[in-house]
Amino acid sequence: MTYKSTRGGDSGKTFSEAVIKGLASDGGLFVPEEEVSFSQEEIRVMCGMDYQGIAANVISRFADDFTASEIEKCVTDAYRKEKFPDGPAGFTTLDKDLSVLELWHGPTCAFKDMALQIMPLFMRKAIEKCGESKEITILTATSGDTGKAALEGYRDVPGIKIMVFYPSEGVSETQKLQMVTQCGANVNVVAIKGNFDNAQTGVKKIFSDKEFAKKLAADGKMLSSANSINWGRLLPQIVYYFFSYTKLVSAGTIKFGEKIDFCVPTGNFGDILACYYAKKAGLPVERIICASNDNKVVADFLSTGVYDKNREFLTTTSPAMDILVSSNLERLIYDALGKDCGAVKGFMEQLSNVGRYDIGGKVLAKIREDFDAGFSVQEEVSETIANVYKKYNYLIDPHTAVGVSVYGKVSDKTRHTVCVSTASPFKFNTCVAESLFGNDIPEGIGEDKVSALLSERTGFPVPVPLRGLFDRKVRFSEVVDPDMMPKKAEDFIYDR
Ligand SMILES: *Cc1c(COP(=O)(O)O)cnc(C)c1O
Repeated sequence: MTYKSTRGGDSGKTFSEAVIKGLASDGGLFVPEEEVSFSQEEIRVMCGMDYQGIAANVISRFADDFTASEIEKCVTDAYRKEKFPDGPAGFTTLDKDLSVLELWHGPTCAFKDMALQIMPLFMRKAIEKCGESKEITILTATSGDTGKAALEGYRDVPGIKIMVFYPSEGVSETQKLQMVTQCGANVNVVAIKGNFDNAQTGVKKIFSDKEFAKKLAADGKMLSSANSINWGRLLPQIVYYFFSYTKLVSAGTIKFGEKIDFCVPTGNFGDILACYYAKKAGLPVERIICASNDNKVVADFLSTGVYDKNREFLTTTSPAMDILVSSNLERLIYDALGKDCGAVKGFMEQLSNVGRYDIGGKVLAKIREDFDAGFSVQEEVSETIANVYKKYNYLIDPHTAVGVSVYGKVSDKTRHTVCVSTASPFKFNTCVAESLFGNDIPEGIGEDKVSALLSERTGFPVPVPLRGLFDRKVRFSEVVDPDMMPKKAEDFIYDR
């Protein structure tokens, strides 16, 4: 298996090389050069495996420069009991048509852990395989969850440092505390004045600065990314779509071979793209429903074929989905355009120059063979949280609620649907508590008290990694203008 850039620049790269580089030299994203396909028999065999077994199976097809035992070691280390005490993923069937895949049982209580607990292990191994001797700095922009998950995954990994930029507007108190109290000798966290797109744009600028890259190389250093543009992030996410299917078959909810739908709360289009890759690889999936929040740039694209980021950026109760440029869409477009790298490049140039492109009716129709789309605004999200609790005695966070709400509006309900649950409700406790209790919450209490109250009134426990968060020591308190990001990164890389 080799990887190439969606824009045609790099090709023939191994999995290891793609993971180390993160972004291709021409600014494109790495995609597999060969189609991976599992036979129905191979999928049937997976129905008898645990999460780790399925993970090793799926990953080995895409990472064939790793030996089977190397992959097994990565998988066992990443998803071990200390990190995921209840198992890597939870699966709850709410009724005969609807299940929830819980991806927040890891150390940071958001689905990012599913990938970011294993990606640093891939990277360590890849460095060894490629004989890469440069010191790697992971630079990441986060809308809240990636930052913490990346810090937790990379902390104290030898030969790698990690720096996280988060927007001072838009992350929750819990998310912020999770990051600014991060332990580890190789970590740094800086807040920037602005929103997630400002942070992401700043990081992309640092990555595309050729002079800076040259200087770093001369000094034995290099940059890499932990954002979902890195194929090493996307690959582990393909696994849990297979896992969901096996769960439904084992429970007898569906017959083997029967098709199901997935509904995925979407921001940077990474999670949902992994679902698309699972489908392409033979998993019996019919519809993939893309759920956007008020920032519905992707839902609009999937409805009209026009991607237009020239609109107001809204901060919502589902901040991890507050985004106007969904980077991973480029990988889908690459497929939909029949792998025409020149055309991809053209559209991405339009996006960068005028903030808009029109993919055209024919290409949109191709995309719609697999995808449906919808959006839900904050009021609907609150209602959904309350309704799901009332109907099923089950708690969901606002991101998951966007998914469940959109499922309600978009799905034709003719197949079993799995809604992907991307964060613990306790991570976004204020929105959840307000949705359930309205004004019946003491005024001015901090998120720690809100969490306790939510737990007390619903009987659901606060997840262990979130307990005691408010008593931890704050290590990082810097807030800077986006223009300062290159300087901050350089200072950190050079230990200044
Ligand atoms: C990151 C995130 C999302 C969006 O996932 P993408 O892969 O960026 O589309 C949704 N919900 C939560 C809680 C997240 O952390």
